[in-house]
Amino acid sequence: MARTIYLDHNSTTPLLPAVAVRLAEAQAENYANPASQHSEGRRARRALEAARERITNLLGGDASCFAADRLIFTSGATEANTLALRGLAGPPGGAVLISAIEHPSVSETADQMLREGYRIERIGVNAHGVVQLDELDRLLAEVPNVRLVSVMLANNETGVIQPVGEVVARCAAAGVPVHTDAVQVVGKLPVGFRALGVAALSFTAHKFHGPRGVGGLLVGASLSLTPLLHGGPQQAGLRPGTEAVDLAIGAQAALEAWYDEAAERAARLAGLQRRFETGLKNRGVPLRVWGSETDRLPHTSCLSFDGFDRQALMMALDLAGIACSTGSACASGSSEPSPTLIAMGLSAEQIRGALRFSWGALTTTAHIDRAVDRICQTINDLRLSSQRT
Ligand code: PLP
Repeated sequence: MARTIYLDHNSTTPLLPAVAVRLAEAQAENYANPASQHSEGRRARRALEAARERITNLLGGDASCFAADRLIFTSGATEANTLALRGLAGPPGGAVLISAIEHPSVSETADQMLREGYRIERIGVNAHGVVQLDELDRLLAEVPNVRLVSVMLANNETGVIQPVGEVVARCAAAGVPVHTDAVQVVGKLPVGFRALGVAALSFTAHKFHGPRGVGGLLVGASLSLTPLLHGGPQQAGLRPGTEAVDLAIGAQAALEAWYDEAAERAARLAGLQRRFETGLKNRGVPLRVWGSETDRLPHTSCLSFDGFDRQALMMALDLAGIACSTGSACASGSSEPSPTLIAMGLSAEQIRGALRFSWGALTTTAHIDRAVDRICQTINDLRLSSQRT
């Protein structure tokens, strides 16, 4: 069978070959525990701190000034998001506002916090999937003791970019810190931690062609953060446990690889998006593109195929050699209706037929053209077989 075309980069991305090399070198060179006092340990410590500083700067933080931003390495973004919500919300009794389209690592952590005595409110989105600022204004005015607001920088299903700068401006007036889940933006578009003015920002390396199992939370200097874990002095006690020096260097290498060609890569991804969506439309495929009328990430297309069931279509596409996602969660195999698409007000029929396609640094125009061919062929085959039955 023809080689699968991988269009599920929002779930995870393949390691870039150059990153794999840096990772292997880091594993060989920095094997020692960075907390050890001998020279090998000190070497690993220097490499870890260099990676921390470089990533902080590439994310638009400042690692060098007196009030330096702090980058806490975690196992990925699920942990970083949980650390942000639990670590910045103070003890139960306070309120946390999140958008209605957050990744489950934010929304389900918030649901758990609700059961523990926090007040949780969700900020709705409009039909394009953009957070409604007037709803945030209302909640900030009405809800007492708001301790944290969490709004993602761009949605993982639709790719729609959120007005986080405006969220920060409103929250600053109310004295409330803002956390943003920047997972789908880091390594795709420039991210400016300080320019945005957020208090905390989450990312994970496996979404930008880095290794799995490493991510981080970038936190402003003045914020007090309560750790999730206890039992060690590492990372100032905020995330105890022996640091994965090799993975941190792998994350740094992947971010540097993006930075070296950032503008060119973003333009290439946007070109692939146009080619994919117009290719399908020109061939008469009955579809709607969600979020296309607003600012969107260049590597994501969330499409509803009229009259099709997403699970059946995803499986048929898999057989035809296309890996895509039903998009409801990053966990493939989940066919629950998507909370994001529900929050946008899509009909049950539109949600039933919604699939997410996402590409990356290694995707070519030839991949996209072949994918369009295979999707058209699959849709026609499914139509013919349903006419026969
Ligand atoms: N946040 C968003 C927006 C995501 O797309 C994902 C993907 O899984 C996560 C958080 C969780 O990241 P991780 O797999 O590193 O835990």
